[in-house]
Amino acid sequence: MKRLAGCSTKKLLTLSVFSFMLSVSLAQAQQGDPKLTEVYSPVPPVVTPGKACGDAPSDAILLFDGKNLDKWRSVNDSTKPADWNVAHNIITVNKKAGNIETKQSFMDYQLHIEWRIPANITGEGQARGNSGVFLASTGPGDAGYELQVLDNYNNSTYTNGQVGSVYKQAVPLANACRKPGEWQSYDIIWTAPRFNDDGTLKTPAYVTAFYNGVLVENHFELKGQTRYIGQPFYKQHGPCPIKLQAHGDKSEPISYRNIWIRPL
Ligand code: MG
Repeated sequence: MKRLAGCSTKKLLTLSVFSFMLSVSLAQAQQGDPKLTEVYSPVPPVVTPGKACGDAPSDAILLFDGKNLDKWRSVNDSTKPADWNVAHNIITVNKKAGNIETKQSFMDYQLHIEWRIPANITGEGQARGNSGVFLASTGPGDAGYELQVLDNYNNSTYTNGQVGSVYKQAVPLANACRKPGEWQSYDIIWTAPRFNDDGTLKTPAYVTAFYNGVLVENHFELKGQTRYIGQPFYKQHGPCPIKLQAHGDKSEPISYRNIWIRPL
């Protein structure tokens, strides 16, 4: 072995001992006390899951209990009740009554909602089982952020407007449609946008959504509120209701059931 230039035997020995001790202490650190990296606080709250997949867990707020629409109201006139039809534990859209929204407002949440396109649905494109879950309702009409509800089982339309899209913003990652007549589900994680005092955007909204258990939106950053014409943009708001859309198609209306939410 060549001796390093300028190094005496004594110096080399010292260097060797030092590097040996260094490697021993590194090995000791890696094999050290595992408790140093264990966390015991905070303790996650106990949540009892529902009996079956899709059932509300113990800490969820039931937005529809199968009996009435007491937790909902008309969007056009917030003093009026939500005049959609309730029968057999199911809500069915009443297009004459317009959109409905929750009385309670939310920021970030986990939402479960199920819907059914009628088996005898007719129409095509956007006029085939059109409804929508507005993740934050910022007023009458289509103000807010729409996760599209539509029958795309055998029905094509612009892809950023098909079921599972953030309407006109995000093409869904998959078309996981079930046949008309079958119940379908959304499981949604919503992060509300935050605004500065002067109304400018502080942090955008994000959505993750599973459609019939299939990931269709993966932490998608929204560009603003849904707009039918033109580009989306943000407008300052705080906590908002969740809105369901009465699109007003000519065919049979769609139905909803099993709606629950966990504020985050
Ligand atoms: Mg819609």
